[in-house]
Amino acid sequence: MRPLLFAANWKMQVTPEETGQYAAQFLGATAPAEGRALWFFPSAVSIGAAADAFGGRPDIRIGAQDVHWEPKGAFTGATSVPLARGAGATGALVGHSERRHVFGETDEETGKKVRALLDGGCTAFLCVGEKLEEREAGKTAQVVLRQLRAGLAGVSPEELRRVVIAYEPVWAIGTGRNATPEDAARVHAQLRAELSSFGATNRVPILYGGSVNLGNALGLLAQPEIDGVLVGGASLDPDGWTELVGIGG
Ligand code: PEP
Repeated sequence: MRPLLFAANWKMQVTPEETGQYAAQFLGATAPAEGRALWFFPSAVSIGAAADAFGGRPDIRIGAQDVHWEPKGAFTGATSVPLARGAGATGALVGHSERRHVFGETDEETGKKVRALLDGGCTAFLCVGEKLEEREAGKTAQVVLRQLRAGLAGVSPEELRRVVIAYEPVWAIGTGRNATPEDAARVHAQLRAELSSFGATNRVPILYGGSVNLGNALGLLAQPEIDGVLVGGASLDPDGWTELVGIGG
């Protein structure tokens, strides 16, 4: 079985108390599986609860949903890499479409966040994805490759060992629509080709995200170019997520 990565983005949901209940249910129903790595991305206030609750499982890691690039300072509401680490996170999502398109985060800021994570010893999950109008204008590759280059500017081949890419078409996130496995795999192959220009010596995992659920995950993961999934809505129910992370195993 090739290595697969399952990442759960809980967005602005799941309180610390609910995190403990979720973990108890999930841990009671799953065991570590060969070649499968799991990441949970709770809200910043639930990182500590998640780190405590999932702490005993070597296959599970906790990440933040966003970080600021500065290590400390007057940035009300923001979470720095040292703060996230102190709470128990060892990585973070960067450039999620909601950060880019709801909060107006730029490619350049995304790159600074990747740099801060790598300098802080963490794993960076760099999210890229095109909007519907960009897809319809035939600009998917242009957009995702621009986001990839900006996000990874200055990242060394050695540092790429702590980078994960998530291809998440904006029009597929939380909408119930998703790319076909073949469409997604085509974009993953374009991203992978570009990654070789960064001198990657390892296989940088490329996840697919966007309305992934029990009904479509198997087809997506059957594509050799797809190394795992980043899942929002379908990760919120511990029973459903238990089934999804066991898929095909
Ligand atoms: C996400 O938030 O990254 C995501 C892919 O959400 P959903 O699975 O709900 O589309």
